[in-house]
Amino acid sequence: MTELPERRLMLVHAHPDDESINNGATMARYTAEGAHVTLVTCTLGERGEVIPPELRHLSGPALGGHRLGELREAMAALGVTDFRLLGGAGRYSDSGMMGLPDNDDPGCFWQADVDQAAGLLAEVVLDVRPQVLVTYDDNGGYGHPDHIQAHRVATRAVELAAGRGWDVPKVYWNRIPRSVAEEAFARLERDLHALPFDKSASVQDVPGVVDDGRITTAVDGTAYAGAKAAAMRAHATQITVADQPYFVLSNELAQPLFTTEYYELVRGERPAGREDDLFAGVATGAAS
Ligand SMILES: [Zn+2]
Repeated sequence: MTELPERRLMLVHAHPDDESINNGATMARYTAEGAHVTLVTCTLGERGEVIPPELRHLSGPALGGHRLGELREAMAALGVTDFRLLGGAGRYSDSGMMGLPDNDDPGCFWQADVDQAAGLLAEVVLDVRPQVLVTYDDNGGYGHPDHIQAHRVATRAVELAAGRGWDVPKVYWNRIPRSVAEEAFARLERDLHALPFDKSASVQDVPGVVDDGRITTAVDGTAYAGAKAAAMRAHATQITVADQPYFVLSNELAQPLFTTEYYELVRGERPAGREDDLFAGVATGAAS
């Protein structure tokens, strides 16, 4: 394989837009600092609800193709050149929300054989040899079938790759500390009158919120706030971003846009204090 930079970060996500919302500042920061950043997205989000009225005619594969274009634009904003669709574009389709008949579609990601999908992801892990892999917790952060499946597939891929020559030293789950979420929503309540949005979401609507004690790592991406906002704006079918650091999804409920991004280390030695770098403590060396 071609030689990659010493530090290599891989992120596994369910749909185009999840990476920018959860990790946009982290991805922009590590790319700018010379690390190799690889994004693997599992579906094209073909069942996503479309916000702009002029694009609402898009659905299924046509929406998937459009969202792939949005993903490309988002990656350009973050400086990420290595982004891949698990098994190739269209291999797995969006499963829709839990409990819907969409989940029974044999081509949807929720119905995928975990070992088979993990085998495809393990190939990418063996190709890139990341020291750090980021994904969701076992509830997918908020219970969406594709997010739960992304967690299962990523977890299994790490096991498979470990048996085949690359033991990923650190695995993290996307998190937001409860105190940070509560403060941000209090600020949002005060700012709401000045925003182009009518209603606020609440802490319970935000994926991955946990007690502060579980947070092992905070990545300060303040300097990359503009890149993160631009990447989120690129996903225009899914997200509307205000001038201030707030955004809405298709439910039109305002949420804070976080530029410090938080993580819980679940593989690798838990640090004594809170880390400020996903690569803290890992031995780096050029992959060859
Ligand atoms: Zn998603």
